[in-house]
Amino acid sequence: MTTDHTASADDKVILSDAQLRKLDVPGPRYTSYPTADRFVEAFGPNEYRQALRQRAEGPMVGSTPALSLYVHIPFCESVCYYCACNKIITKHHSRGREYLGWLEREIELHTAELGTGQSVSQLHLGGGSPTFLADDELSDLMAMLRRAFKIVPGAELSIEVDPRTASPARLRHFAALGFNRVSFGVQDFDHAVQVAVHRIQSHQSVSELVTEARALHFESINADLIYGLPRQTPESFKRTITQVAELRPSRIALYAYAHLPARFKPQRRIDSQALPSAEQRMRMLGDAIAGFIANGYVYIGMDHFALPGDALAVAKRQGRLHRNFQGYTTQPDADLIALGVSSIGRVGATYSQNAKTLPEYQDALAQGRFPIVRGVALTRDDLLRRAVIMALMCQGRVDFESIELAHLVKVPEVFASELNQLRELEQMGLVQVGEQEIQVTATGWFFVRGIAMVFDRHLQSDKVRERFSRII
Ligand code: SF4
Repeated sequence: MTTDHTASADDKVILSDAQLRKLDVPGPRYTSYPTADRFVEAFGPNEYRQALRQRAEGPMVGSTPALSLYVHIPFCESVCYYCACNKIITKHHSRGREYLGWLEREIELHTAELGTGQSVSQLHLGGGSPTFLADDELSDLMAMLRRAFKIVPGAELSIEVDPRTASPARLRHFAALGFNRVSFGVQDFDHAVQVAVHRIQSHQSVSELVTEARALHFESINADLIYGLPRQTPESFKRTITQVAELRPSRIALYAYAHLPARFKPQRRIDSQALPSAEQRMRMLGDAIAGFIANGYVYIGMDHFALPGDALAVAKRQGRLHRNFQGYTTQPDADLIALGVSSIGRVGATYSQNAKTLPEYQDALAQGRFPIVRGVALTRDDLLRRAVIMALMCQGRVDFESIELAHLVKVPEVFASELNQLRELEQMGLVQVGEQEIQVTATGWFFVRGIAMVFDRHLQSDKVRERFSRII
């Protein structure tokens, strides 16, 4: 039996069940390489401070690119059963104000190392739910950040918005604070699905928010969707796809639900019998890809679509796409200062993560320490593999010469085994391996992380693989 999906306007994906099964293995999203599960406790606050000092005093000083900032607001009022995020469920809004105090301490630790007024070209507020904070708290947070950093004109300021805690008036406030990008968690408009995942929000409320965001000229309006949720059927999800396409968000992120109840407690409340079958998931994915492309969206890469005029689509056409912890971005590899409980940053050739629990996070800050609990200093091999993996994920192409010049290696020699492994994917029509380049095919774009995984030195055992969500 052959599974047949029209996956793009100019490309018909036809994969056999055997091929699909081969591709349908757990794999990382490569928002970083090495992936966060490879971070080690030996990398702590001192190593992080050293990385910051190197930025502040190193040879690149004066020419270092502007910073990116990520601020994690962990609170949510109620739990969505599919949730795999680091969040704290509470109805006590006073916790938001208290949390701002801890963020301020964390910011001060950074300015003590970097000095105040470091340029910032990108800021993202994520969670949890940033919109758990009241408007005056968000104003205070932005004022705090602006006192410590210099947010440059034209910077990308984005905020994740839970439609259940937002209103058109709140969006006007976000715009007044300087936010120019907004991301709405939609997931699915079907009521039965919303009940099954404990997240009820009407189509009308989301529609009003998108309309207001457009009127406020937010440069980018994103909608997050999830397929593979309980009670979802290909038919019901098709309706959601149509409704979302009609709203015309400039970007759409389409994630696969990964049911890992052993790891994520809220997922234990999901009836596994109500989950769609693997075949149904494939239909939903195929329908979504075909539906969005038929409605004028461009496939950006893993999970993401954008309207042709959106900055991500333009960057993709121009080969300027990058990837960070928030997914695809137009900004080149900037250092990312991550603030707040559990957040992950990148400074120089290091990644680091803050404490995952609030008491641990607060305890470190109370003692005047960075709340870093683990991280990694990248080796030469990591840097080389990161360059290849990011080139695959962002450009769908690895140019051997540029890798060889930057890393002083011979690609065919150093990656002999990986290039050999790619032959199988080549036979499946997902990739073309030439003398001088690896090119991901139009079909291969839809499975690009499976291609990238070939270059991941850390992904050796199936045991490790089982910790990631499925590719499709
Ligand atoms: S999915 Fe988002 S809003 Fe829902 S519990 Fe998780 S972090 Fe909170």
